[in-house]
Amino acid sequence: MADTPSRSPAAAPARRKSGRHRGEGQWAVGHFTPLNANEQVKKDDDGLNVRTRIETIYSRAGFDSIDPSDLRGRMRWWGLYTQRKPGIDGGRTAVLAPEELDDEFFMLRVRVDGGRLTTAQLRVIGEVSQEFARGTADITDRQNIQYHWIRIEDVPEIWRRLEAVGLSTTEACGDTPRVILGSPVAGIAEDEILDGTPAIEEIHRRFIGNPEFSNLPRKFKSAVSGSPLLDVAHEINDVAFVGVRHPEHGPGFDLWVGGGLSTNPRIGVRLGAWVPLEEVADVYGAVIGVFRDYGYRRLRNRARLKFLVADWGAERFRQVLEDEYLGRRLTDGPAPEQPVLRWRDHVGVHRQKDGRFYVGFAPRVGRVDGATLTKIAELAEQHGSGRIRTTAEQKMIVLDVPEEQVPSLVAGLEALDLRVAPSPFRRGTMACTGIEFCKLAITETKARGASLIDELERRLPEFDEPVTININGCPNACARIQVADIGLKGQLVTDERGEQVEGFQVHLGGALGLEAGFGRKVRGLKVTSAELPDYVERVLRRFQAERTEGERFAQ
Ligand code: SF4
Repeated sequence: MADTPSRSPAAAPARRKSGRHRGEGQWAVGHFTPLNANEQVKKDDDGLNVRTRIETIYSRAGFDSIDPSDLRGRMRWWGLYTQRKPGIDGGRTAVLAPEELDDEFFMLRVRVDGGRLTTAQLRVIGEVSQEFARGTADITDRQNIQYHWIRIEDVPEIWRRLEAVGLSTTEACGDTPRVILGSPVAGIAEDEILDGTPAIEEIHRRFIGNPEFSNLPRKFKSAVSGSPLLDVAHEINDVAFVGVRHPEHGPGFDLWVGGGLSTNPRIGVRLGAWVPLEEVADVYGAVIGVFRDYGYRRLRNRARLKFLVADWGAERFRQVLEDEYLGRRLTDGPAPEQPVLRWRDHVGVHRQKDGRFYVGFAPRVGRVDGATLTKIAELAEQHGSGRIRTTAEQKMIVLDVPEEQVPSLVAGLEALDLRVAPSPFRRGTMACTGIEFCKLAITETKARGASLIDELERRLPEFDEPVTININGCPNACARIQVADIGLKGQLVTDERGEQVEGFQVHLGGALGLEAGFGRKVRGLKVTSAELPDYVERVLRRFQAERTEGERFAQ
């Protein structure tokens, strides 16, 4: 039942009327009339259907032929966003109309479920980057790859090449089941509780590109990891399955729902349920069904699952899940244990359970390029078995390296400026797309993050504490600012001459892991972009000078 509840508003069961939620646009209580323009667009036509128009009309007739409701709506269902016109400063982001910000080029997101790639796939990703995306290819903090400068004319050919090697852009964006995060070391890590890969594959098979689930109230983010390192940021996903050992039933997953960041951040809640591997896809289907049917569709800024979970609480959510979607009780289960290590990115050289090694490495703020990706594929073929992973921290990993091959692989990566033993600054700094390409951005992020890393490495060569510095170009949270030690939220700030310039609101002391919590917005503390290295250096030096034995940065 879980994966096939009826989607059509007309066919949805007439469930009880709830006075409290009247007018929230919840299908399950009979509110099918679209209450905003986005809901109307989705009702008019399924976002998945835009693919045919791209292939048969838009790619042939060009950018100007694109229907506006496809351009700024349905094209996301296939991973396409218009990118920001170059040269528009952050001060004008909020005042210009969308069509004034739109460039004729697109960002295209390739979903990499579980972060799993083969070298053959990586070669194609690199080739597409060089041929169609001016060499761009960023690794995102959701394990995806993002291109920029894509022309609509080239999209069908890009799809053909990606799909020929088993990659896709299906539902990489939009109000859909987005990429499923997975532990990048699933199946190989010595300390693994269990391998979630079969569940990710089953979820993908049943729910991605499925019209029953292609009109959700908002995006739906998910994660599955059996790693004790808690390496998929499970607390900030709409649904997450986290590896635990049940005292009677053995390895399985602890079920979390309702996490999410953006402007109203919430840590997900545990439902107290233990889910065996073979039932993960059923439970995923039940949770996404609750979201589709009960999710709030009236206001987009209240549509994520976290708002429903906050209103209902864990107990009621679990009850509805069991009674109306699963038709059975879930097994009670334990919480995950506190991870021993602070870094969760798998960077460095690590022994696998089969005796070979995996080698994780760090570009700067997830920025690579097509030529580099092609060289990484070559190195992985020379030294490993052809398996590559992306991580949820904008890093990459080569798997299956025999011990004697490790030094040569490390040297090859370092020659590409991909650090296997990076400074804490390179390792812990992430940045979103920012003003270079994002229409919502107020500040520059990627280049700023890269230069911040270089500055901190020069100024603080002895600093050896894990520290996370997450840089966002606007109040959204694509780079997870609220859960970083130092979170930087892009906005305009006033400089010493009284002029409005690019800068950041500072949040300090956020974290993920079992001590998960949001950073404190430091009242009134804003820094200009130019002051950023001085400010971060001061914060880190003060910590070094004042820390007590065993204290880590965020405490
Ligand atoms: Fe764009 Fe803001 Fe997201 Fe950065 S955080 S990618 S600027 S929407």
